[in-house]
Amino acid sequence: MPDPTGFPQTYTDSYKHIWAREEPQLHDVCQVCGVAFSQRSLWTHDENGKAVAIPAVPASSLDVARGTSDPVTSQIETWLRAQFEQDLADLLAKAKEYGSSDLVVMGKAMGALVPSAAGNQAREIELAIGHYALGKVSRLFGAWEKGQNPTIDSWKDLTAYSMMARYVRANGEWA
Ligand SMILES: [Zn+2]
Repeated sequence: MPDPTGFPQTYTDSYKHIWAREEPQLHDVCQVCGVAFSQRSLWTHDENGKAVAIPAVPASSLDVARGTSDPVTSQIETWLRAQFEQDLADLLAKAKEYGSSDLVVMGKAMGALVPSAAGNQAREIELAIGHYALGKVSRLFGAWEKGQNPTIDSWKDLTAYSMMARYVRANGEWA
């Protein structure tokens, strides 16, 4: 499908910003509105390419229920909310990368190892995702054994796999 903006080989994130490469770095700017990658979650742009501030997330019912403003909790919560936004974009990209047919095939192979799951496709797909997750955990320990700091991508991939497994558990199949 031709890119309507005329920019070849670009990546559009969940805020509609368009980046020159698939994994934008901190100092990259949106090709439409010029917003820096580090500010991407605070801005989107309108149909004229004008940057528009995204309104702050309203207090959730959780905030109301809690009724306190514990500084440690709120520091963690602020950080998490920002991560969830990025994780959402990453997970949508992963959804494209992992077609459900790959997971079905890998699930069949995994089902052969775990007879109690064999023939239950949702269970097999969870096993396939667990298999991929185990690969990432192995990568963490491989780095530690070599005295290196594992790349943060291994942890991020584990977030993605966890959410995929939860989606499968809730929906019975991967998109
Ligand atoms: Zn933009």
